[in-house]
Amino acid sequence: MAEKHEKGIKRYGVRYGRTTKKKLGHIEAQQKKAHTCPYCRYPKVSRKSAGIWHCGKCKSTFTSRAYNVTKPGAVKTEQSLEV
Ligand SMILES: [Zn+2]
Repeated sequence: MAEKHEKGIKRYGVRYGRTTKKKLGHIEAQQKKAHTCPYCRYPKVSRKSAGIWHCGKCKSTFTSRAYNVTKPGAVKTEQSLEV
């Protein structure tokens, strides 16, 4: 039975191995969902490119982690290097 976040990774077919794709699926699921803006708290933030995020509510463009948005100050150096 396929898990939820394995859905989007079917495009890779049998390539790259199971674990790699599973990890990617998890990251992509995080990246695509609506993120909450650290400035106006409105869940209207979309990802422009790696680490660049844009809020459709207050129109601010800001940097955060590459695949998800964390609150300012909550980012540890080790964490941001992990992904
Ligand atoms: Zn905002």
